[in-house]
Amino acid sequence: MFKQFYDEASSTLTYLIADMSAKQAVLIDPVTENIDDYLHVINSHHLTLLYSLETHVHADHITGGGILKSMTSAKTGVSIGCGASAADMQLKDNDLITFGSEQIKVIATPGHTAGSVSFMWQDRLFTGDSLLINGCGRTDFQSGDAGKLYDCITTKLFALADETLVYPGHDYSGRRVSSIAQEKLINPRLANKSRDEFIHIMENLNLPKPKMIDIAVPANRRCGTPEPQQG
Ligand code: FE
Repeated sequence: MFKQFYDEASSTLTYLIADMSAKQAVLIDPVTENIDDYLHVINSHHLTLLYSLETHVHADHITGGGILKSMTSAKTGVSIGCGASAADMQLKDNDLITFGSEQIKVIATPGHTAGSVSFMWQDRLFTGDSLLINGCGRTDFQSGDAGKLYDCITTKLFALADETLVYPGHDYSGRRVSSIAQEKLINPRLANKSRDEFIHIMENLNLPKPKMIDIAVPANRRCGTPEPQQG
């Protein structure tokens, strides 16, 4: 089973993947406000949620990972480069996450943030904010690095089969899926752009600071759970 969810407030795309014979499921980038929607699908199909994975520590919404962990038997998984010590699994490049007879491969794609990863399952690539449809995540905070982002998109993601489906972590224009071929061909930041041209574009975006960043980043390092009480 493969299901895409959309969070209106943050334009976040969340993914549920399940092996229906083993009845085991994985969520990628759950949003805390939408946990009931995920649990409804999980419970109505009698699935066990094994893992709640993050493509990175998000600046624009709070993850549902920590709460899902407390409500189900799910383990949380965040890249080792994210500083999320609360996560059960510190994910590294080439790690394999198994559920039923299925596997998700971790591909380190730093650049949007130092700890950003993409996940590959069958012919589908979940890019978080590393590669968006016709765009990519900004690189001006959370130890972002435009040169590193260009390198991992062009050498790792664009090396995948052209038919690979690209499922991003956000889309602000109602789009839901792309492909490696499409992004190579028409992504305005990457198609026929040199590394220097890409860095120049990224350094001149002049984007406002995300509204939620000061709340969301520390909360997401705790997998979205509340701050411990002092004293
Ligand atoms: Fe992000």
